[in-house]
Amino acid sequence: MAIERTFMTTRRRLLIAGPAAAFFAAPAAAQKNQQENQQEKPQQKIKAVATISILADLVRNAGGDRVDVTTLVGPNSDAHVYSPTPGDVRKLAGADVIFVNGLGLEGWMTRLVETSGTKAPTVVVSKGIAPRNTEDVRDPARVKIDPHAWQAVANAEIYVENIRDGLIAVDPAGKSVYDANAAAYLGKLDALQNEVEAAVAKIPADRRTVIINHDSFRYFSDAYGLTFIAPEGVSTEAEPSAKDVAKIIMLIRTQKIPAVFLENISDPRLMDEIARETGVAIGGKIYSDALSEPGGPAATYIELMRHNVYEFSTALIGREGHTAVIPGRRAPE
Ligand SMILES: [Zn+2]
Repeated sequence: MAIERTFMTTRRRLLIAGPAAAFFAAPAAAQKNQQENQQEKPQQKIKAVATISILADLVRNAGGDRVDVTTLVGPNSDAHVYSPTPGDVRKLAGADVIFVNGLGLEGWMTRLVETSGTKAPTVVVSKGIAPRNTEDVRDPARVKIDPHAWQAVANAEIYVENIRDGLIAVDPAGKSVYDANAAAYLGKLDALQNEVEAAVAKIPADRRTVIINHDSFRYFSDAYGLTFIAPEGVSTEAEPSAKDVAKIIMLIRTQKIPAVFLENISDPRLMDEIARETGVAIGGKIYSDALSEPGGPAATYIELMRHNVYEFSTALIGREGHTAVIPGRRAPE
């Protein structure tokens, strides 16, 4: 809380300095001084912790210069099977605010928060979305909540609103900044939503079923109309059985499924095996639950969505079908 005190003191000083300077200085200089004061950043940035890299990017967009964001589960890493480290305990202990996806994604988080003794509020960014259920591949009677809500851009927009409100709650002085940052970013997400819809609309109905490692694209499927079949369930905790894999191979053959994709967070061996058995080529690397490394093809949420749609389109209808609707994306690596 020392951070908050320093921060408040700084703000108070700025408020006092403004009118005092205006009284003593020439009007032009006073105006300049006031402008500088308004632009001055708080000395201590708000320390935000995000559980996964995708959330961290959304927090950076809403928080801008006022917020330092650290991530627990980094790029290309799997949140379902994550083992927290002593470094994570320290990150939470020093946090002003914590952002989690919720919907059962971060089962390891409750204990981690307790261990850290942090007093920072936890913001569940998926609050307010319509959660969807999914049956467990291995046990159809067992219904689970699907945590991958960010795969529909409309849900990511709700995430951003929750993040904005969470930041304002711990840093009310930054409200106008967070409001403006979030509004600008939400505009970009609206455009992204249109791009994704337009790109998927170009894929013929008989080529819209694909294979992916784990069941992470149901929200995407609901929103945009591709169908995904996965040998692993909504979590990556359990390896698929030989029977599950055989079922997938049979489906690819009987339904003539045109493409198999590999996720960045998954072991490539399973998809290699399926591709080998069926003769269907691996369509590309898909970023499901984590961003790529910085400078990679999916280093931000917007790049992740664009990259994935580009890979789906390329594998299903060829390169010409979509480059016009997804401008500015980087070449696949
Ligand atoms: Zn997942």
